[in-house]
Amino acid sequence: METTSSEQYIEEIKRIKAEKNAIILAHYYQTGDIQDIADFVGDSLALAQKAASTAADIILFAGVKFMAETAKLLSPSKKVLLPDMMAGCSLADSCKADEFEKFIAENPGRIVVSYVNTTAEIKALSDIICTSSNAVQIIESIPEKEKIIFAPDRNLGNYVLNKTGRDIVIWNGTCHVHEEFSLEAIIRLKKENPDAKIIVHPECELPVRLIADFIGSTSSLLQFTKKDKGKCYIVATEAGIIHQMKKENPDKMYIPAPPIDSTCGCSECSFMKLITIEKIYNCLKNEIPEITIEKSILYKAQKPIRRMMEISEKLGL
Ligand code: SF4
Repeated sequence: METTSSEQYIEEIKRIKAEKNAIILAHYYQTGDIQDIADFVGDSLALAQKAASTAADIILFAGVKFMAETAKLLSPSKKVLLPDMMAGCSLADSCKADEFEKFIAENPGRIVVSYVNTTAEIKALSDIICTSSNAVQIIESIPEKEKIIFAPDRNLGNYVLNKTGRDIVIWNGTCHVHEEFSLEAIIRLKKENPDAKIIVHPECELPVRLIADFIGSTSSLLQFTKKDKGKCYIVATEAGIIHQMKKENPDKMYIPAPPIDSTCGCSECSFMKLITIEKIYNCLKNEIPEITIEKSILYKAQKPIRRMMEISEKLGL
């Protein structure tokens, strides 16, 4: 392709997608142009559900590696593509399989609940997976007498522990976006915009959660801004979600919560933003890079994800 204009890439992407029976699944943290060309946009749970049910032959994942791996675990016979293999996750990286195995051995007899933001190796060591949309319900689905290990996000783990009152030991991992929000800057924004509601993802640190008007997963935050009668929101999660919020309610105002150390005034996941329209075009055209998972890991990692999917389906999540 000689041209490099974005419109022409988009036209070609549409053509190749139809020709190859491919689907593009995009996370809410992708840039607006990518969300707009995707066949489906959602949070981790919705994307996993879509990956499990699609009739497409190829799934191109506009997101990060653990999400594309999850799609592969749920649809192993399909070709799953990720436009940039460097699109990792600081949270998933904070939990290495050998160290996690040791952690489990040091806390024997506990049910291992892992957040979807983990590598396939960590999933293979887990009993059940959760996302931020269903974490509380997944923990509540475990019999009261059972003790739990939660990994890898310490903030989500702490949030779930407070909500459920369960006996949970928590892995000490964090997301580089959600732990970085500045409490002082959010309070200052609230003073400048007294009618604004502070809406916060549970991966944020406790002081930020404590001043929230609403706490929820990315899709819950979107739903909240859709249904709520307010007109202005300070949004403490990755700023990509604001694209969908504006599409749903263009008349409302959305202020990205600033990180502690930033000159841009917004919080973006550097891994998510590695995906571009041009990389999507090249990836679809050449069908690389492709996600592969070693068979022994794949079989073990499928079980806890399927358990999550079954519980979510039963609860109508
Ligand atoms: S926002 Fe945080 S948890 Fe999500 S992919 Fe980026 S680093 Fe990982």
